[in-house]
Amino acid sequence: MKKAIVIGSGFSSLSASCYLAKAGFEVEIFEKNDTVGGRARQLVKNGFTFDIGPSWYWMPDIFDKFFNDFGKKTSDYYHLDKLNPAYKIFFEDDTLTIGDCMDTICEEFERIESGSSEHLRSFIGQAQENYDIAINKVVLRPGLSPLELVTKETVLRVDQFFKTISQEVRKRFKNPKLVSTLEFPVLFLGAKPSNTPSFYNFMNFADFGLGTWHPRGGMYEIIKAMKSLAEELGVKIHTQSPVTHILVSEGEVIGIRSQGKNQISDYVISGADYHHSETLLDQKYRQYSEEYWENKTYAPSSLLFYIGFNKKLENIEHHNLFFDTDFEKHAQEIYDNPQWPSNPLFYANFPSVTDGSMAPKDSETGFFLVPIAPGLEDTPELRNQYFDIVMDRFEKLTHQQIKNAIVFKESFCVNDFVEQYNSYKGNAYGLANTLRQTAFLRPNLKSSKVKNLFFTGQLTVPGPGVPPSLISGKLVADLITKEVKR
Ligand SMILES: Cc1cc2nc3c(=O)[nH]c(=O)nc-3n(C[C@H](O)[C@H](O)[C@H](O)COP(=O)(O)OP(=O)(O)OC[C@H]3O[C@@H](n4cnc5c(N)ncnc54)[C@H](O)[C@@H]3O)c2cc1C
Repeated sequence: MKKAIVIGSGFSSLSASCYLAKAGFEVEIFEKNDTVGGRARQLVKNGFTFDIGPSWYWMPDIFDKFFNDFGKKTSDYYHLDKLNPAYKIFFEDDTLTIGDCMDTICEEFERIESGSSEHLRSFIGQAQENYDIAINKVVLRPGLSPLELVTKETVLRVDQFFKTISQEVRKRFKNPKLVSTLEFPVLFLGAKPSNTPSFYNFMNFADFGLGTWHPRGGMYEIIKAMKSLAEELGVKIHTQSPVTHILVSEGEVIGIRSQGKNQISDYVISGADYHHSETLLDQKYRQYSEEYWENKTYAPSSLLFYIGFNKKLENIEHHNLFFDTDFEKHAQEIYDNPQWPSNPLFYANFPSVTDGSMAPKDSETGFFLVPIAPGLEDTPELRNQYFDIVMDRFEKLTHQQIKNAIVFKESFCVNDFVEQYNSYKGNAYGLANTLRQTAFLRPNLKSSKVKNLFFTGQLTVPGPGVPPSLISGKLVADLITKEVKR
């Protein structure tokens, strides 16, 4: 039996481990932190349950497919609720509520811009076609060759790789609120809408067509499900076990070193951040230079606040976007001229609005996220300054006082991303999906310098987000399984 060691226990590592174990490998995971889940860990304090990272459950079909591949269903592990409304957007002078089906969303669009619902239906129709192509054809390829992107369907849509989401949206919708609403989903891909090919409007179908879901108990339920599936399949998981070296002999991987001990294996797959993973190798075995990493476009980092309130809050939904300031200016301060944002957009979720298990009775669990450029200076003073900005804006826009109801507060920012995940520059969501960082143009799943060394996760193929991380684990496991059969 061939043995594979997997570094890290985020979504991609757990996914790769499950597929490899199913294919007959002996699999062991080595995770540096004391719990599994990586960026998707959970914080439970004083009866409040916080998902530390991801909170939007989009593309339910990808999760279904993952569990189906093992003869299971998501419902064998967790209960999903479709959120209605999916989310609420606060603008300076109005709010926009996104319902759970196209009819209600169209009504809301009509309220803002007469005639817009017709454009919306045709836009989402095209987005649905792109979703089918992206998910069923393009994304399931391992990014080894440019030819993978060439299919009958993509050739017919080649123009959509050279136009941007921003251009396409602005051609059809005039009202800036609708423009921001339709540009929001591509932020999950980590790049500016004006730098994201319009083909990626399949994210708009994921949003309006497939809806926003919530696993009861929080996103960590998915991690718990994957951990239990991995263990059912025989995967051994070691937490508090940082990997300090990837061991290579004569150009071939022979295992890893953790806690001063060598662990021997036939294959190593690293789901830790790609740049960090390469630093575990001797210089001559690294594929990418510091200059290469320096020149890449990263998805943002984040300033996060996890807050427990001792009362129920008003005028909010489960997911809330605060788009009352200039979207473009904030994007420039993330990507073009990295600096702390002058007037930040932010996002807040309150899972206890729809799921009583997430907070004590008559209380609210709050998560606030300000996207920022990776690599910014991170100090307690800056965190406090932005905490005040966010709280003041929130109180003003939702017409209530909340600061006096805070009974728990913790923050997380660039330094924590570096310290807890070995994240390059403290990025939160990996490497952005721009045209020049798509598919074969991303860091490779397979090392070109070390035989039997592989990588997975949000910095490689296909990209940032939970569903892509699940797919990344499958892609790498498929590559290895094929190699063994050869
Ligand atoms: C704040 C935030 C909000 C997000 N929101 C969403 C969302 O709503 N929806 C969505 O789909 N996606 C979201 N994402 C993105 C999503 O969470 C990630 O894309 C996904 O979790 C990445 O998984 P991964 O396996 O690539 O990496 P990670 O989860 O980072 O896993 C890497 C693991 O490697 C471990 N590790 C690092 N170095 C070592 C070492 N030397 N030895 C051993 N272990 C090591 C780390 O501790 C970590 O456990 C969000 C991310 C963040 C941070």
